[in-house]
Amino acid sequence: TNHDIPAIEVKNLTVSFGPRPALLDISVRIEQGVSVGIIGPNGAGKSTFIKAVLGFVKPDFGTVKILGFPATQAKGLVAYVPQRGAVDWDYPITVAEVAMMGRYGHIPWWKDPSRSDWQIVQEALEMVRMEEFRDRQIGQLSGGQQQRVFMARALTQGADILLLDEPFAGVDAATERAILDVLDRAKKSGRTLLVVHHDLTTAGEYFDLLMLIKQRLYAYGSPETVLNPGLLSEVYEGK
Ligand code: ADP
Ligand code: MG
Repeated sequence: TNHDIPAIEVKNLTVSFGPRPALLDISVRIEQGVSVGIIGPNGAGKSTFIKAVLGFVKPDFGTVKILGFPATQAKGLVAYVPQRGAVDWDYPITVAEVAMMGRYGHIPWWKDPSRSDWQIVQEALEMVRMEEFRDRQIGQLSGGQQQRVFMARALTQGADILLLDEPFAGVDAATERAILDVLDRAKKSGRTLLVVHHDLTTAGEYFDLLMLIKQRLYAYGSPETVLNPGLLSEVYEGK
């Protein structure tokens, strides 16, 4: 890929579900290989922003480009780890099968994955430290363990851009460590990370750049500039 093309380029993005826009006129350019944390209060539109980048919600206005392609034509370039609790696993599927979904985009019951696909799944499960759970039913795991399996699924996809919606919310210390390791390795391999992260105490430590959103984009830049106390109280206390 040409490194002059931004990983994600959003122009004048407006998204509404009702009369009041969830996102209003957001423009941002995210270069390849950076890690970006999205912060902002509850209901600020963080998850909606991620979904718009994925092409899952249709903008009222504006454009989203992924490595130069319209979001709706860029599915294979982007891997997604949804907000916890967004998926209810009420049917039997194993950890390894969920991780394999990253290779096929769906549950591979009817396919016969190749040896190299199984190798990729094995490596991803090792990276998230879930290899000993590979034959367990996903529905029987704790939320933190499921979160790690979803990370593995995103990794097996081999996408250059990873979008994660609050991956650290409600996880134990071991899972937090495992997820941080994965993000670190993904970044070292040149991938671009866009991560919703509501914890302001660690946001500056975990990411190169931060985006502060509350319907509008209030700030985008280094943690030092974005974590400005006056700005944060304006956005979080609603002045
Ligand atoms: P955040 O992730 O920052 O907490 P969201 O993006 O989930 O915020 O939501 C932003 C706003 O859009 C909220 O007011 C929420 O109620 C609304 N919203 C999000 N998704 C939908 C939807 N599918 N239908 C209707 N309203 C929605
Ligand atoms: Mg959210």
